[in-house]
Amino acid sequence: MPSNAQLAFIGGGNMARSLIGGLLADGYPSDQIRIAEPNAERRDMLASELGIVPSASNTDAATDAAAVILAVKPPIVRSVAEELSGLIHKQQSLTISVAAGVRMQDIERWLGEGVAVVRTMPNTPSLVRSGATALLANAQVNKAQQDLAESLMRAVGQTLWLDVEEDMDIVTATSGSGPAYFFLLMEALEDAAAEQGLDRERARLLVLETATGAARMALESEDSPGQLRQRVTSPGGTTESALNVLNDHDFHTAIGKAVKAAADRAEELG
Ligand code: NAD
Repeated sequence: MPSNAQLAFIGGGNMARSLIGGLLADGYPSDQIRIAEPNAERRDMLASELGIVPSASNTDAATDAAAVILAVKPPIVRSVAEELSGLIHKQQSLTISVAAGVRMQDIERWLGEGVAVVRTMPNTPSLVRSGATALLANAQVNKAQQDLAESLMRAVGQTLWLDVEEDMDIVTATSGSGPAYFFLLMEALEDAAAEQGLDRERARLLVLETATGAARMALESEDSPGQLRQRVTSPGGTTESALNVLNDHDFHTAIGKAVKAAADRAEELG
């Protein structure tokens, strides 16, 4: 990412904090990052902790920025986009939205025709720099702006570009809501181990290490998760006994239905 690109974050909450933390860890100069945050206490804390340039005004922060990152809660995106619309039009900067469920055509309408917009869908592990973010660019985004948006989100994890906005609902149902599915599995496994008599502290440690280890193996392996599962399942063994019970309870089908329900809900909300 060009280290001279002035970035303006609008909203200094959890997501902005993680993105900025990632950028600084990658060596991005702190004096090139501005943040507009109405909460004075939060603003001062971000400025002293991160060394970035604070502002109480969204328009002051966004003036002459190469990219303006909308990091406010979804219901506030409209008022912020409308407040910045003339300014962003004039300086032809890129607008990046991290707001879940806010559609491209709405952002374009609020900012005004012809503005370059990248809509992103990060997930909560971005807070620990292990996020998975999908990005979607409108026709006005040029190559340099696309690279800027990608390197911003890469500072907190992996990225992938989408070609059509409909895929954003599937992304929301997969990686957006996905951390909760894995938390549920960890919770159930911890409860089961505890019910079988293991103390909870040990049960949790085993579950968390197993989840991390399985994810790392799957990431590093050429094999698919399905192939890995088959390889660790010996006929007549303990794993097979467990998987048979999960199959009897239609585990695979239940996950499919759950993801469909989340995607349908994302479409309704958007
Ligand atoms: P947050 O509530 O922590 O932060 C929002 C910040 O915006 C607050 O500090 C608030 O004071 C500030 N704000 C409120 N009104 C404002 C205004 N008019 N102008 C400027 N700032 C204003 O929320 P968050 O968790 O950081 O989420 C921000 C966005 O990121 C949301 O749209 C959410 O959908 C998206 N997102 C968050 C996560 C996550 O893991 N937290 C994951 C995916 C997407």
